[in-house]
Amino acid sequence: MATVNIQNIQKNYGAVKVIHGIDIDIAEGEFVVLVGPSGCGKSTLLRMIAGLEEVSGGAIRIGPREVSNMPARDRDIAMVFQNYALYPHMTVAENMGFALKLKKVDQAQIRSKVTHAANILGLEKLLDRYPKQLSGGQRQRVAMGRAIVRDPQVFLFDEPLSNLDAKLRVQMRGEIKTMHQRIGTTTIYVTHDQVEAMTMADKIVVLHDGHIEQIGAPLELYDRPANMFVAGFIGSPAMNFIEGRLEEGVFRTNKGLILPLPKDLPKDIGGRGLVYGVRPEHIRASSDGIEGRATLIEGTGSEIFTRLEAHGEDIACLFRERLDVRFGDAIHIQIDLPRVHLFDKQTGRRL
Ligand code: ADP
Ligand code: MG
Repeated sequence: MATVNIQNIQKNYGAVKVIHGIDIDIAEGEFVVLVGPSGCGKSTLLRMIAGLEEVSGGAIRIGPREVSNMPARDRDIAMVFQNYALYPHMTVAENMGFALKLKKVDQAQIRSKVTHAANILGLEKLLDRYPKQLSGGQRQRVAMGRAIVRDPQVFLFDEPLSNLDAKLRVQMRGEIKTMHQRIGTTTIYVTHDQVEAMTMADKIVVLHDGHIEQIGAPLELYDRPANMFVAGFIGSPAMNFIEGRLEEGVFRTNKGLILPLPKDLPKDIGGRGLVYGVRPEHIRASSDGIEGRATLIEGTGSEIFTRLEAHGEDIACLFRERLDVRFGDAIHIQIDLPRVHLFDKQTGRRL
């Protein structure tokens, strides 16, 4: 286990800057998720930490060692990729022990480490199989086993679950979390999936266009997003953003809908363009309140997702109670006011 310290890291491909000076501090044993849309620089950043990509500027430390210019094999990290990268001609046990064999570790010790990792991952019965005789989830487990066997200072994961079907993805993310709780190795995990980030991370780093938008614990990002990018990216279905301005103690949207405001408003926010942010799950159906017409109704059994048109504004709502609503019906809604966010329209920052 080790700390990882990333200081003003930059990456250019020729004249194109893809990472713009990023700072991240990772504590010993922490599970950090780098999340952001495709192309924002997650893999590039992870590959620089791994030593698979040169840095264009800045410093990376693993524990006390500065590793920025150290070859990958000397960094004491293990990386798990989306496509597993197993050797097809080796059995599961051979795949898992291969890195140790290269290091000339003796056979008995390799066997003991492979058995230990196989126990953690439930691979005991599969050790003599070849990769083609395994399911996707089992292959992913072998790839993780190979990382565990090396007992590195840091685990790096690059979208390891992207090739699995939805159900297996949920199961495997639980298994990775359990594995982390058992062995406690510092982990940096890359995904574009905010649900994975929310459920797995001790700390989330939200990346966008090679910049950090916010770093925080999952619920901090959900409850207090720094800006509209984070507010819109974290949480599903996404937060409603409705443009307007303050008028005599209420919020008047650009289309003229009046929305209620929380009690404790930030100071000096009158007179400028604002964005009213409320999550669909913080709106409930009621017998009075704002009236709208249902333009979409999707029930899953546990909840009903509805889009309402109210005074020209489109509002997404997630109702937990079972409502008997049909397309075009009038619905009244109440907004959970303490959970309303206001953003500056110009800067996108939360006020
Ligand atoms: P992510 O993993 O978040 O999807 P990447 O780190 O793969 O994003 O890529 C970040 C940006 O860098 C993208 O715009 C991508 O096109 C660019 N990029 C990645 N690798 C190279 C390369 N070898 N040469 C030029 N541009 C690259
Ligand atoms: Mg990537």
